[in-house]
Amino acid sequence: MWRQRADVVVVGTGVAGLAAALAAHRQGRTVVLLSKAEQTATFYAQGGIAVVLPDTDDSVDAHVADTIVAGAGLCDPVAVRSIVADGYHAVRELVGAGAVFDESTPGRWALTREGGHSRRRIVHAGGDATGAEVQRALNHAATSLDVRRDHLALEVLVDDGAVAGVLVRSADGLGVIHAPAVILATGGLGHLYQATTNPDGSTGDGVALALWAGLPAADIEFIQFHPTMLYTADAGGRRPLITEALRGEGATLIDRHGVSVTAGVHPMGDLAPRDVVAAAIEARLTATGDDCVYLDARTVPHLAARFPTVTAACLAAGIDPAHQPIPVIPGAHYSCGGVVTDVDGRTALPGLFAAGEVARTGMHGANRLASNSLLEGLVVGGRAGRAAAGHAAVAGPARVVTPDAPVRPVLPRAELQAMMTRHASVVRSGAGLRDAIDRFAEARPRTLVTRRDVEDAALTAVAATVAEAALARTETRGCHHRADFPDTDPAQAFSSRRGALGLTPAGC
Ligand SMILES: Cc1cc2nc3c(=O)[nH]c(=O)nc-3n(C[C@H](O)[C@H](O)[C@H](O)COP(=O)(O)OP(=O)(O)OC[C@H]3O[C@@H](n4cnc5c(N)ncnc54)[C@H](O)[C@@H]3O)c2cc1C
Repeated sequence: MWRQRADVVVVGTGVAGLAAALAAHRQGRTVVLLSKAEQTATFYAQGGIAVVLPDTDDSVDAHVADTIVAGAGLCDPVAVRSIVADGYHAVRELVGAGAVFDESTPGRWALTREGGHSRRRIVHAGGDATGAEVQRALNHAATSLDVRRDHLALEVLVDDGAVAGVLVRSADGLGVIHAPAVILATGGLGHLYQATTNPDGSTGDGVALALWAGLPAADIEFIQFHPTMLYTADAGGRRPLITEALRGEGATLIDRHGVSVTAGVHPMGDLAPRDVVAAAIEARLTATGDDCVYLDARTVPHLAARFPTVTAACLAAGIDPAHQPIPVIPGAHYSCGGVVTDVDGRTALPGLFAAGEVARTGMHGANRLASNSLLEGLVVGGRAGRAAAGHAAVAGPARVVTPDAPVRPVLPRAELQAMMTRHASVVRSGAGLRDAIDRFAEARPRTLVTRRDVEDAALTAVAATVAEAALARTETRGCHHRADFPDTDPAQAFSSRRGALGLTPAGC
């Protein structure tokens, strides 16, 4: 078993992990960054970053208000304000690291609008390639850091009630990085489902690592389905996203007969919050029996120049969006909940931090407002890096521990994804969720050797936790829709906290 020491280990090299690592490094700590794969969700982000710019008609109050409305009663208003208020500073820091955003006139950023936003406040880059620019700039800023690609985190090591490091698998086999502070920045969990906008590595590893370390996840039932994922018959795995910013620029959602999908559903029409639009699409598909609806972007000015990523994805699928409506369906997109942290990324386990999509700060509540996640990753990532550096300085070097390869329950991935897609997607029901939970409970323990083993074990733990949380929430709220409880129940306006199946639930 190889061994190494660091002050801070950051697991993940997307926006949150890189922001965290750079911040910890600036505090003078030794930092090791781990990444199991080249792809990040950050790279694929299209629409942009929601941020309140000075000298506009926008305000932190307005952004906070929109975020809280989307969050359907479960946002933590203090967390929302704290993160939104730091947005401009964090984006300026990113520009300092070399990021270049699109301008409407020289020196003035172009702002677009997305669902649920009352103002144009989304900065973007390369038209619809914002994430690629964020990733490029942060990768460049991190060139002097110790970044380990193809290094998989299997377990957070705990010694005497505090973090002692991470168990890692690399090409050199199992190893331990001893460190008093670990930051989970592992992204989302879209591969709980058969089709998702998320890259291959979004398998919920960070949530599982925290659950296995005995920590709770909160709001984990709230999985946002993006209303417009490109539809191609029989295609699974990662599917291209058709950004919401297209609707901000005038594209409309129609069914096969050209009838609006959202007319009369919500005052904001096609720009209603994502859960509303996704549920309207599901309802139309159920009513018509069709496989998909369509996004008509033919009237969007300069479509190919403004949306090059979407245009390329459509053309690759044989659809010319300038002349044909784009076939779309809702797709698993974003985890609103996750590992419980404060707004500095601190968990309840001393030395363990989490930031980005893996974390639940209280920013998103029951539904994330579009383009708030890159914002949260930047802001909380930076804060978690500083907090972890401070913790490491006080805690001192971690003691040497010698763990075994972990043994965890694992279900075959295809079966798990089929269960989740059938029973825990846009619309859920008690009977279906109970079926899924019964099956998840039959998962067989296995020694985790390969990346696939670890990801399947993570998916199994997280699927069970999502299904349990979804079953317990007997109401419809935010992006959690129950066919058997179609109304929102004011008595359930609280966050749910849950441990992994087989661990002690943390209670509600
Ligand atoms: C197609 C698409 C479009 C989007 N558009 C927008 C947008 O316009 N605006 C917006 O705000 N948000 C958008 N989002 C959401 C946003 O991109 C993500 O929420 C955000 O980028 C997540 O960043 P992160 O740093 O938390 O995780 P990621 O960027 O996903 O990075 C996760 C990292 O963790 C690593 N990792 C995971 N598990 C392990 C492990 N066990 N061991 C080692 N490494 C591990 C991965 O290799 C990766 O490096 C979009 C998402 C998608 C998928």
